[in-house]
Amino acid sequence: MNTKEIADQLEFFRDIGIDTLDTSPPGRGRRAGEAQARQGEASKKYSAGEGPNQDLTLDSVRAEIGDCQRCKLAPTRTNIVFGSGNPHAELVFVGEAPGYDEDQQGLPFVGRAGQLLTKIIESITLNREDVYICNVLKCRPPENRNPEPDEVGSCNPFLRKQLEAIRPKIVCCLGTFAAQTVLQTAAPISKLRGRFFDMDGMRVIATFHPAYLLRSPEKKREVWEDMKQIRAELFRLRS
Ligand code: URA
Repeated sequence: MNTKEIADQLEFFRDIGIDTLDTSPPGRGRRAGEAQARQGEASKKYSAGEGPNQDLTLDSVRAEIGDCQRCKLAPTRTNIVFGSGNPHAELVFVGEAPGYDEDQQGLPFVGRAGQLLTKIIESITLNREDVYICNVLKCRPPENRNPEPDEVGSCNPFLRKQLEAIRPKIVCCLGTFAAQTVLQTAAPISKLRGRFFDMDGMRVIATFHPAYLLRSPEKKREVWEDMKQIRAELFRLRS
């Protein structure tokens, strides 16, 4: 990290009210114990002959998407924003949809919300290159409006395939649309965030979207709590 990046990171910690830095492996608190109790469930992945599709790679998923015309977002997009990062990531972040900057550059989370996401990732001593970042929708909705059900329906199979190709330990959903789409529920983010769900052998957690944090910075403290859980769970799953 250069000096500016260190200053930005310290600013994030100050914003979330942290005045001491603890980068040691997390202890085994109550939540770690609860998570341990669910380990058996999580390890049931692909039992009974339901093996992962070994031929599925991020490149094959991207190739299948092609110059997608499956929904009404195609004519107004500049670029398909497939995703970026480590194809073997242990941790995947799923956002909502590309915004202006992402549509222009063809990369996820490169605007202001993306800069905050970078700080959030670095708060648990990871880098963007360590994780994989993608969205529910691969094309920008006009004027950044909310995704519509037919658009989510067209794109969701590709998100599922991306997760199947990467097979991360943890998926972190950013905001309502990602959480509801990944977890297939209509529950609000306020009910979903802050705890792990088991899905196809992955641990899924939801937290607030960085764009929401830009509008409501007081919520950064809760995101920090969620990130600490992710860090603890990653340590637990690695051991
Ligand atoms: N918001 C998102 O949900 N995704 C992006 O890629 C950028 C902003």
